[in-house]
Amino acid sequence: MNDQSFDTKNAVPYGKFENPNITAKGEDRASVPLMKATTLWFNTGTLCNIECLNCYIESSPKNDALVYITTAEVEEYLDQIEERKWATTEIAFTGGEPFMNPDMIDMMRVSLERGYEVLVLTNAMLPMMRKTVKAGLLELQAQYGDKITMRISLDHFKAELHDEERGKGSYAVTIKGMQWLRDNGFTMAVAGRTLWGDSDEDSRAGYKALFEEHNFEIDAYSPGMTVLFPEMDETVEVPEITTACWGILNKSPRDIMCASSRMVVKRKGADKPAVLACTLLPYSPEFELGETLEEAEGAVKLNHKHCAKFCVLGGASCSA
Ligand code: SF4
Ligand code: SF4
Repeated sequence: MNDQSFDTKNAVPYGKFENPNITAKGEDRASVPLMKATTLWFNTGTLCNIECLNCYIESSPKNDALVYITTAEVEEYLDQIEERKWATTEIAFTGGEPFMNPDMIDMMRVSLERGYEVLVLTNAMLPMMRKTVKAGLLELQAQYGDKITMRISLDHFKAELHDEERGKGSYAVTIKGMQWLRDNGFTMAVAGRTLWGDSDEDSRAGYKALFEEHNFEIDAYSPGMTVLFPEMDETVEVPEITTACWGILNKSPRDIMCASSRMVVKRKGADKPAVLACTLLPYSPEFELGETLEEAEGAVKLNHKHCAKFCVLGGASCSA
């Protein structure tokens, strides 16, 4: 049965999130066009120095499902941004832990040389604190400081809760990394999690006190500088998003992350990198749009639970 054969009158049933065009109730599924590609993400590889309990991309010291992307591959996509005349202003790197990738400093450099702002999502632990990496970061900071933002994963402002997720002692190591970034003038942001059920107000007050204690110049009340991510629980029932939802929810497709970004990944065994709809669905084949930016310019059908819960209903954006 393909989607052309669907007949709403005779209601051939599809399950939820099965048909890219039609929901289980036979309504038109919502999609998001690429409106203005302001951010291009690169996944640097899934290897990580630690293994968190709830890592959305299942990173670990062993998971190399997404392999290290190289500087040459990043440059090819930077060329394509120019060829396609994308309105990109920011190149963002996520992992795994980006500083595990031996090309990380060079990939930042080539992006900065072309005038982009660079965002790096890091746990600020030992991979970032290696001598050669620190030297590279200092050099880039001296030349392009105001263009670099380091977004540190600090799951909770309390050490014991952060460590519950990331392993005993990891909070202290991350704070040390942040102190080094602070002492060397890097712009920092923080990514926290909401799985302990604190209210937004309590979370932000907790982070504010922590930032003050350490003289971290991070605005705890700015949703872009202290990003609090809703949890992605695959077991929770979520409604499907139809074209009518935008009006009902008073939301615009423009506000959804895949309206303004794409992510490049390199899968293990693949000859070339691929472009995905977003950072949130690295392993769903339906959200792999092709090898080139041109192939990735089409609209994205919101045919996944994450689209509903995390983006449309949860209101979160990884690139905030
Ligand atoms: S540090 Fe980040 S990438 Fe690494 S396992 Fe934890 S959540 Fe995943
Ligand atoms: S998870 Fe969100 S950003 Fe990703 S494709 Fe779905 S709606 Fe778009």
